[in-house]
Amino acid sequence: AVEQVVKNFRVLHPDFQFTIDNSAIQTAHIRMTKYHFEQLLLILLDNAVKYSQQAKQVTILIKEEKRYVTIAVKDYGIGIPKEELEKVFLRFYRVDKARSREKGGVGLGLAIAKEIIDKYDGQITIDSEVGKGTTVELAIPKAE
Ligand code: ATP
Repeated sequence: AVEQVVKNFRVLHPDFQFTIDNSAIQTAHIRMTKYHFEQLLLILLDNAVKYSQQAKQVTILIKEEKRYVTIAVKDYGIGIPKEELEKVFLRFYRVDKARSREKGGVGLGLAIAKEIIDKYDGQITIDSEVGKGTTVELAIPKAE
């Protein structure tokens, strides 16, 4: 499923290099609709591309844990200051208004992502370093 979404996303951003590492997963099934899963992935990929600047590389790392499948989308872009990290999940919140306005968007992507993942009792976490890049990880409950 990840492959399909990324394949379609590549068409929109042919200048980017998307790498999928799924070596740490077998055939786990997740407890989430395909529609919501794709929506989540698209929000994260869209942000990774939008805030990448010259580093045109995005890595998707999929892992299987005891109760969750985790999917981390990592970019090497502008990053987010530590003190802003927890606020990016708020509706209409955007880091550095002037800089991000020219990138389009209204600040809803991550708020929607959090709403979806919360409904499924999953987690979304974000880790970032200014100038180095950002990793957003989804933990989605596995189906039994
Ligand atoms: P949209 O509503 O189109 O998603 P948006 O990208 O501004 O617009 P969010 O996805 O909610 O909204 O992101 C909120 C803010 O978090 C962004 O404005 C941006 O400042 C910051 N952000 C999100 N993802 C990244 C990322 N991968 N790298 C750097 N900053 C990010």
